Amino acid sequence: MKKAIFWDLQGTLGGEAVADIDSFVPYEFSKDALSLAKDNGYMNIIITNQSKIAKGLVTFEAYEKTKNQTLEYFNSKRTLIDEFLCCPHQSGDNCSCKKPKTGLIQKCVKKYALDIGECFAIGDMGKNEIVMARNAGCGGVLVLTGGGIGSLYEFRHTWKDFEADIIAENALEAVKIIIKGKQ
Ligand SMILES: [Mg+2]
Repeated sequence: MKKAIFWDLQGTLGGEAVADIDSFVPYEFSKDALSLAKDNGYMNIIITNQSKIAKGLVTFEAYEKTKNQTLEYFNSKRTLIDEFLCCPHQSGDNCSCKKPKTGLIQKCVKKYALDIGECFAIGDMGKNEIVMARNAGCGGVLVLTGGGIGSLYEFRHTWKDFEADIIAENALEAVKIIIKGKQ
């Protein structure tokens, strides 16, 4: 069966935790992180909450533009990103895809026959990615880039009933720790 890493985008692979999507710039180590994950048999799937689309603060076109630029940056030499998925809804929409809900993970599990127990979610917001990891039944990694330090301390109450399996300095360190744990 296949396995995957479900990546958060902003604050994890680049940009800032809560900035508008069109200001996204990848971190310098992100290509290496995705590449190392691929070398070790993981699919790379990006799952991003973009509630600003529902709120009318960001256009879907702006999101698509950043998505295409990001795919071009990461996939030009080798396909590092296999899927790039977005929840455009806001809380009141009662969708099944807004993190920490697992709708987009479930979709990928079905599509690629993923072994969820071998998968990880990596992100900078415990209330989103770590809670989602628990809801989905995969490993959860908190990175300390973006909003990670704030999530771990100031906003720890927003995910107080949950623990990360791994806390890593950044995306590349996260993948290194995952791989080490498998040896
Ligand atoms: Mg984030």
